[in-house]
Amino acid sequence: MSEICPKCGLPKDTLCICETIAKEEQKIKVDTVKRKFGKLATVITGINEKDINMKDLAKKLKSKLACGGTAKGGVIELQGDHKKRVKEELVKLGFPMETIEA
Ligand SMILES: [Zn+2]
Repeated sequence: MSEICPKCGLPKDTLCICETIAKEEQKIKVDTVKRKFGKLATVITGINEKDINMKDLAKKLKSKLACGGTAKGGVIELQGDHKKRVKEELVKLGFPMETIEA
């Protein structure tokens, strides 16, 4: 059973290209911030959560980078300093290089 895209009414995993188009329209920012106990976290902002499945994206990034993290209110936070890798992985996931500022 394929999930139907609410935007175009086509099956999400085959015919729908809404997310592909949306990926080209994001203005993603990747930053490293210091959290408590001096631990670093990588924060990804600028993704429109209406266009992109943030939970799914966070899950993919966490498994690729083998780290913990959360997706909340349009912000993905990953434990550790993964700035460089995050950019690479986002590109692999279909976000054009020029949409990512890191
Ligand atoms: Zn669609």
